[in-house]
Amino acid sequence: MLLTPHTLVGIAVASVVKNPLIAFPVSVGMHYLGDLVPHWDFFSNTNEDERVSGWRPLAVAGELSLAVATGTAAVLYALWIVNDPALGFRMLICGIGGVIPDLLSGLTLYEKNLNGFLKINNRIQAKLQFQSPLPWGILTQILVSVFCALVILGSTAQ
Ligand SMILES: [Zn+2]
Repeated sequence: MLLTPHTLVGIAVASVVKNPLIAFPVSVGMHYLGDLVPHWDFFSNTNEDERVSGWRPLAVAGELSLAVATGTAAVLYALWIVNDPALGFRMLICGIGGVIPDLLSGLTLYEKNLNGFLKINNRIQAKLQFQSPLPWGILTQILVSVFCALVILGSTAQ
């Protein structure tokens, strides 16, 4: 799944689960569940060489910027509009938690000496990816994103 919907799932967890010690691991776990949603991303049906060459790394970097912007907007929303610094903190750590498995996998594209945890993460990720062709693979992610936005607004708006 793309990084922006993963981020939104993490932020939705942060909105609903008030204890950061629980919310953070749940947001990481939800990443793996998110990848079970049939989706298309820049690495769909590619081999290792295609992932690190051509336009794909640029597209991933661009989409990562969108995810960071989304997370930043959510934290500012929590701080300025909801006026809840604890919520802002949870959104920050859970927004990052929601993409951590992909950040770690991304590192392993360039670093070949993997330690045990990175290997396990890659293996789980490879197993759970559920691909879907365009346009359906994007539509599912839009639905997930809209659902998360509704959860976030529904549980934080006063
Ligand atoms: Zn993933």
